[in-house]
Amino acid sequence: AKAAGKNQYSFYNDQLEKKLQLKHQLEKALSSKNDRQCFEIHYQPKVNTNTQQILGVEALVRWRNHDNQLISPCDFIPIAEETGLIIPLGEHILYQACSQAARWQQRGHQLSVAINVSTVQFEDKHFIDTVKSVIESTDVNPNLIEIELTESVLAKNIEHAKQLIHDLKEIGVNIALDDFGTGYSSLSYIKDFPLDTLKIDQSFVKNMLHDATNLTIIAAIIQMANGLKLSVVAEGVESEEHAEKLSEMGCPIMQGYFYSRPIPEAELTEKYQLS
Ligand code: C2E
Ligand code: CA
Ligand code: CA
Ligand code: CA
Repeated sequence: AKAAGKNQYSFYNDQLEKKLQLKHQLEKALSSKNDRQCFEIHYQPKVNTNTQQILGVEALVRWRNHDNQLISPCDFIPIAEETGLIIPLGEHILYQACSQAARWQQRGHQLSVAINVSTVQFEDKHFIDTVKSVIESTDVNPNLIEIELTESVLAKNIEHAKQLIHDLKEIGVNIALDDFGTGYSSLSYIKDFPLDTLKIDQSFVKNMLHDATNLTIIAAIIQMANGLKLSVVAEGVESEEHAEKLSEMGCPIMQGYFYSRPIPEAELTEKYQLS
């Protein structure tokens, strides 16, 4: 029992050490503007399966460390949030994603670019000014930009969220509710916030073919979105069977590994002939 206790102790110690190391590296990478290039944005297409056309992409950040390994956002976004480093990082991501949307726009491709925004960013009092100045400096059509928020971001401070979403809509950007259906959501979010898009959470999609409850929930979300004139996107589409079923159910807009993983801009440009 004593040995097990010791192992347990060193396990937590190792975890803590790893986290501190990551935090230190993150601080270093964000302290100099030049080092920010190690945060790469990959893009995952959003496809309309009725027309087989790419409608837009979601911007997803990755971190390339000293050893040239790509670190997943699940491993560093929480640390960036805890430390406040998500503010400069978020600004960098916003700038990169808007610049990319502007480049596609200049080449005649009206691709929307969805950008994830976390609670800490959303609560930052400079957030709206940052969005405004990035849109101005990149010269992107704000209608091509979609901000993805989760229900928990909205729940944190409803009055603040209402004001900020109002301000964002005034600039012309679109708002998507991400991971919809997870979290202890209330339908009043849909009523109270002027949303443009609902993103059906991957967990429902993943289980839809073998579990009638998930299928029923998806059908209800699609029907509600159609009734309220919101776009609806299914996430985590991994197979043709999923795609066919979703399309049959009236949700032709999809994102998932079946179409493409998140990939670097150059790869996306080649795959979808966006040059
Ligand atoms: P999310 O916003 O829900 O993003 C969707 C995640 O699902 C992405 O993971 C994507 O690669 C993955 N995914 C897409 N299609 C499939 C599929 O068919 N099957 C499966 N199993 N997974 C799929 P990723 O890139 O690792 O990002 C994880 C989370 O990290 C994101 O979840 C988001 O919450 C956060 N994140 C990523 N990039 C950013 C960012 O730029 N800013 C902020 N604040 N958060 C970010
Ligand atoms: Ca997202
Ligand atoms: Ca999601
Ligand atoms: Ca998520």
